Amino acid sequence: MQNGNTNKIWELLNTVPDPEIPAISVVELGVIRNVIFQENSFIISITPTYSGCPAVKAFQDDIKICLKENGIENFELKIVYSPAWTTDWMAEETKEKLRKYGISPPSEKAICPQCNSKSTTLVSEFGATACKSFHKCNDCLEPFEHFKCI
Ligand SMILES: [Zn+2]
Repeated sequence: MQNGNTNKIWELLNTVPDPEIPAISVVELGVIRNVIFQENSFIISITPTYSGCPAVKAFQDDIKICLKENGIENFELKIVYSPAWTTDWMAEETKEKLRKYGISPPSEKAICPQCNSKSTTLVSEFGATACKSFHKCNDCLEPFEHFKCI
């Protein structure tokens, strides 16, 4: 039986990339609410970024695979919808990683991740996924995705 070292679980979770934005981990995205050890199993609470976001299923599968590969079998994933995830849970360094990856991080206004121009045009409310909108920069003309602010 494993001991209840939740730090180890956090470490492992931090190696699981966001299925949509591989540059950041599910921990950096801020969807892991907490990890507790209870009755000999780890309870991992997850708050999806957007309810109905198809990535939620992918998150869970990736987390399960990662933990099992590391010999951890005694865990349970719990989806927690309240309080709802907000982009405020995203750390500044995570936003920086998004920018480097070419995605405009959550903010009131979509800023071009290539040239930092604030002069951008909304092309579509939805990008590759419902969590992002699609924009075009008026200065460097590069299209980019903006992580929606919620
Ligand atoms: Zn630009």
